Amino acid sequence: MARTPMRRARLWNDGSRRLTVLFLAVVVPPAVALVWLGLELLNQDRTLAVQRASERRQAVVQGVAVALGQSLTDAQRWLTDDPVPVGAVRLVLSSSRVRVHPPDRVLWVPRPPTLVPAATQEFADAERAEFQGSAARALQAYEGLARRPSPAVRAGAILRAARVHRRERRWDEALASYRTLASIDDIAIDDVAASLVARRAICFVLDEAGRSAGLVKEAASLERDLLAGRWTIDRATWDLTAGQIAKWRGRAVGASDEARTLSATAALLWREWQQSDGESPRGSGRKVIVVDGMPVTLLVRTTETESIALAILPGLMEAWLASASSGVAHQGPLSVLTEAGDVIAGPGLAAGGTSARTSASESGLPWTIALGAAAAPPPLEDLAPRRRLLMWGLAAIVLLLAGGSAVLWRAVQQQLAVARLQNSFVAAVSHEFRTPLASLRHVTELLDERDDLPREERQSFYDVLTRNTERLHRLVESLLDFARMESGRKPYDSKVVGASDLVRQVVTDFEREGLKRSIPIEVEAGLADAAVLGDSAALGHALWNLLDNAVKYSPGQPDVRVQIESHAAGVAIAVRDKGIGIPRREQREIFGRFVRGEQAQRLGVKGTGLGLAMVSHIAHAHNGSVEVESVEGAGSTFRLVLPEARCREPEA
Ligand code: ADP
Repeated sequence: MARTPMRRARLWNDGSRRLTVLFLAVVVPPAVALVWLGLELLNQDRTLAVQRASERRQAVVQGVAVALGQSLTDAQRWLTDDPVPVGAVRLVLSSSRVRVHPPDRVLWVPRPPTLVPAATQEFADAERAEFQGSAARALQAYEGLARRPSPAVRAGAILRAARVHRRERRWDEALASYRTLASIDDIAIDDVAASLVARRAICFVLDEAGRSAGLVKEAASLERDLLAGRWTIDRATWDLTAGQIAKWRGRAVGASDEARTLSATAALLWREWQQSDGESPRGSGRKVIVVDGMPVTLLVRTTETESIALAILPGLMEAWLASASSGVAHQGPLSVLTEAGDVIAGPGLAAGGTSARTSASESGLPWTIALGAAAAPPPLEDLAPRRRLLMWGLAAIVLLLAGGSAVLWRAVQQQLAVARLQNSFVAAVSHEFRTPLASLRHVTELLDERDDLPREERQSFYDVLTRNTERLHRLVESLLDFARMESGRKPYDSKVVGASDLVRQVVTDFEREGLKRSIPIEVEAGLADAAVLGDSAALGHALWNLLDNAVKYSPGQPDVRVQIESHAAGVAIAVRDKGIGIPRREQREIFGRFVRGEQAQRLGVKGTGLGLAMVSHIAHAHNGSVEVESVEGAGSTFRLVLPEARCREPEA
């Protein structure tokens, strides 16, 4: 069963679609797989880089932990050796007292050393005289006692003499007595060092005497000595003295937070020590305690009789951290924290969070050491070349794949187009054959059936037979010729051919062929004696095709003219018609094999799409060309341009 054109087109479209799908199925999955693989590799690289950076940061933290551990170990020596560095203090707790080294780093101690109390018994008589109003007698007695060798008696006597002067408002004498008393250190008056009592009394006297300048000066000196740890006193005495100085000076005593914290630490340890009844190992080892909001690191060594603690303040920790982290600061801010997260040293953990840490249990230290996230991500120089190479490689492969696919796609499309053309060619050729064959069959049957035909009629039938046989012959010859041309086997017998002779001959043959259609071809006057070198049969074939097209594509009564013209490249045989014309976009393509114009197909003009391809072939084989000028709807001019043969002598 013959396939209809529509069905053929559908089959064709199906095939084309299948090919497209197949092409995509072959090209797209490897491309996608390749891109996926590349991205996956990049991703793995990134993960690896991040992991390496994290390991590096962890190593930094561990390195810092080791260095800080070393500092702590080194600090053990200050449990026994002096000088204890700034920012730390050694506290020696025994059953009776707390000793502080160096003493000026605390404000008070929980249990000051016991001093010899000033004498009281010796003054009974003198005091009686004093309180009975006999100040002179009392004073005389006190001054006598003040010359005794015993410091306890001397201190008691001077204190009382000063009291008498003060009461008598003899300020200078009172001050002089107190100043003498101020030089006696190891005697206590009401459990307070006599010197401190005297210094406070001097201030009181100056205050009472209204000597404010002297008072301010004296209070400042007292404050200086108090803060310098001149007296080892308990908290109550310190608070009282500091309160009085503040009143005299008009501002609070400038005790540092560190000194307050260390004093409080000493008090705390003393309390613990007492609660443990001096038993070890309570409190031994190293730990961090928070005192008044300040984290204090403690190194404790407890013996049979005493407990020695080194209290380390954040200031010293800061110095240790600075030396431990020198050279690794670019990795991020380092901090030392308590287990609860309080900052001991370093900036602490800002919003960026921690990028690496080692806890107290991991490091065996009493702190957590943490590395904050660095402002800039760590540079990953070692991975950069690998990543660059991968990116370039991937880009190159994708480009190659895309380029290759595009080329392949074009080739496939071209082959599809050729196949499509061949398909329509087969249809066209079959059609071309079918018409004369049908005619031959019909006429032969008529001749066979009708023996009685008159001679003229019989002759006309024979003419039809001859014409159709001729047409078939021409068609077959044309196809064979084309096949020979395509394969390069077509021989050309070159001779000098007169252009006008050639035109005349072909036009005559063409007119004879188309006699019944009565198509006149007008040959216009032109170059009469132009000659070309070539195969006259082949050139005639080319001209025939041009004439055939001019007639075919001129609906109604064709108006076809032929003229031999002079051309820049030699001689041109121009065939003009006033037919349907050719759209500009088709004017190049129509010279391709099997190509038929849209309009030609729409109008149902028979053809194979080989005519112009053969003309072009023949023209090029003769070193010539074919040109076309056409206006759609107005007509076309085809020029067969050939090099002129110079050797022909003009006929005399
Ligand atoms: P065919 O004539 O068999 O289709 P050709 O190779 O001779 O094949 O011509 C190719 C196409 O060029 C034609 O299908 C037609 O569309 C166009 N063509 C050729 N000659 C003319 C002409 N004189 N006028 C208009 N169209 C033409």
